[in-house]
Amino acid sequence: MSKSAEVELTQLKHAISYLVGLLEEGSLVDRYDKNTREEIASVLQMLVSKVADLPDTIPEHLVQAATVRSIIAAKEKHAEIHLSEEEENLARHMREIEAAASIQGHTLGEWERVSGSKLEYQATCRDCDGLVYISHASTYNLLIDGCVRGQA
Ligand SMILES: [Zn+2]
Repeated sequence: MSKSAEVELTQLKHAISYLVGLLEEGSLVDRYDKNTREEIASVLQMLVSKVADLPDTIPEHLVQAATVRSIIAAKEKHAEIHLSEEEENLARHMREIEAAASIQGHTLGEWERVSGSKLEYQATCRDCDGLVYISHASTYNLLIDGCVRGQA
């Protein structure tokens, strides 16, 4: 005896939603890379809602297209999150270095983007020409302790 398609769909949706939760939480799948886990969880969520919105009669290749669209949408969503985290780190590194430079008696000029890079900046002290460099991942404070004016 086969159960109804409706019951099977309900059970399948429940199973997928449980899988999404496990992927997001991560403890059962701790060998999976975190970003990949979260992205696949997004793909599954989007796929369930896209399939629900598909018309009754639709060629199979358009069903497949819903899968590809879900993957692309999840990729874009996670790229945005990733970028905004990097931008936050960059801004925090700028504030930290500015505070440190000021405590050391330096006066930093404008931040200049390092050419050819997206999230790397450098600034020099107006008085001693000392250099600081930051990226989203690291900071380098090459200022001497206590600014010495006029010595480059
Ligand atoms: Zn200085």
